[in-house]
Amino acid sequence: MKTVSSLLNEEWYERYKRISKLNIRSSIYDVTNKCNLRCKGCFFFSSGEHKAAKEQDDINKWKEFIDKEVQRGVNLAILIGGEPTLFMDRVEAFYDRLPTYCATNGQIKVDRERFPDMMVGISLWGDPEVEKKLRGKDTFAISSKNYEGDDYTYYLFTISPRQLGGIEPIVKRIEDHGLKVHMQLLSNDEGVDGFSWTEDQLRQAREEMDEMLIKYPKTVISSHYYHEVLTTQTMLGRKFGWKECPSVSINWDNREPQPKRLIRFIRWASDLETTHRCCTSQTRDCSTCMDGAAHMSWVMVNKRAHMQTTKDLQNWITVYEMFAKLYRFIPW
Ligand code: SF4
Ligand code: SF4
Repeated sequence: MKTVSSLLNEEWYERYKRISKLNIRSSIYDVTNKCNLRCKGCFFFSSGEHKAAKEQDDINKWKEFIDKEVQRGVNLAILIGGEPTLFMDRVEAFYDRLPTYCATNGQIKVDRERFPDMMVGISLWGDPEVEKKLRGKDTFAISSKNYEGDDYTYYLFTISPRQLGGIEPIVKRIEDHGLKVHMQLLSNDEGVDGFSWTEDQLRQAREEMDEMLIKYPKTVISSHYYHEVLTTQTMLGRKFGWKECPSVSINWDNREPQPKRLIRFIRWASDLETTHRCCTSQTRDCSTCMDGAAHMSWVMVNKRAHMQTTKDLQNWITVYEMFAKLYRFIPW
């Protein structure tokens, strides 16, 4: 059997060692069912997940629940919603107890005196025109003012087919505001006209994402291999989908045989009892799922499959490094 050290030279082995010590057990939490926006294509609202459970509003229940999650072995809380920053006391209950990442639309500023090093990921769906069409407003105008130069914030830029040919000005704007960016692709859960992908468009998206990573290496947090896997939904000749997805809540996972998966992963609804099927839309057809985090995790949990060649293992390392950077487990 091939070993890691036999496949890597000294430089790559050092890179491998830096990430191999990380032992991350994440879960996802709907902090609230409410949001201050209503974006077309939002998986949370389009799949009715905002109605799946009645929100728990007793903060002490949240604290007890989070303590149990820590005992369950979770060491990274990923907060989503709705919009988590509408309930800062809930966000704080997580932040006080474990490393926390807060996904937000950036319209409300996280107070850095209260949350000095909490990771913040701001959703961005395109240029002002696309944002107005899909989200009802140019969110960047506000979020970029709120977070200018913030060392613990990056934009999670969801690229749609309409954005092709125009990705660079957005990356440049983000760089000009002293922030980082990570890219993923729109899944168009609400079938908005003109926002579904063709194969040619996916190829173009990959080319543009690759180009951005080369031109803006200090701003773009990504990996060429991630671009390849995401835009082809293929890894080592295997097709992404339900049978392969690593981001299925453990109590929903009845797959036989079990694929490699995120250990003990659960996505909790805001009543702290109900769980959702996976990290994204409960009603999405898995064969068309473009979820960036699920594809990233898919690569990460499949290390052994990447131990056939040096190139495969190097590719795996670049995706793991991307993940570790996104959550600041290693420096940007
Ligand atoms: S800001 Fe996020 S949670 Fe709110 S509607 Fe838009 S995508 Fe959904
Ligand atoms: S919708 Fe996507 S993330 Fe959810 S189970 Fe299907 S493939 Fe996985």
